[in-house]
Amino acid sequence: MASPHHPRKALPAAADRCCAQCEKSLGRAAVGYLVEGIARPPGRRRRWQPRRALICRTCYRAGSAHPRSGLTRPQDARRGRNFEWFALVGRGTPLPPTPCAGCGLKTVRGGDPLLRRVTCSAACRTALTRVRRGGGGSGRPCPVCGRPVTTGRADTLYDRAACRQKAYRTRRKDEDAHAQP
Ligand SMILES: [Zn+2]
Ligand SMILES: [Zn+2]
Ligand SMILES: [Zn+2]
Repeated sequence: MASPHHPRKALPAAADRCCAQCEKSLGRAAVGYLVEGIARPPGRRRRWQPRRALICRTCYRAGSAHPRSGLTRPQDARRGRNFEWFALVGRGTPLPPTPCAGCGLKTVRGGDPLLRRVTCSAACRTALTRVRRGGGGSGRPCPVCGRPVTTGRADTLYDRAACRQKAYRTRRKDEDAHAQP
């Protein structure tokens, strides 16, 4: 179990719906701009890591080159508390807002010769891949939380990553306990 001073809670699903830079909600009819950047994940090990994330239109405009003069903005304009971005994802020119093939969120990204569909996040991309493979999970209950495993391959044991990690940590703790003299 995690220390009570640092309760480890799962990321809310709505995290995908917040601007990574200003951390405000993208709103219901909003457009997300998919950008390359670095993020500082929550928790104790707060190292900056490369991450693609969605930002809001306001942050995207404030950080993009000036539309007429072409002048780039200072780095500060692209930096939030836990995220800083560099550029729109993709090598080509920005595509018009396109609904994410997974969740429908209107997403703006740069074009790419190999781009087959627009997705807003790794979560949506993974979900689609699972659907394509026909992964319906094992149908058996997850040994950690008891919910049926409905995604992934037929031999998937846990229903979500949080449960897999929890089981792993418990195993490690057991092993440590046995290793003690
Ligand atoms: Zn924002
Ligand atoms: Zn999506
Ligand atoms: Zn579970």
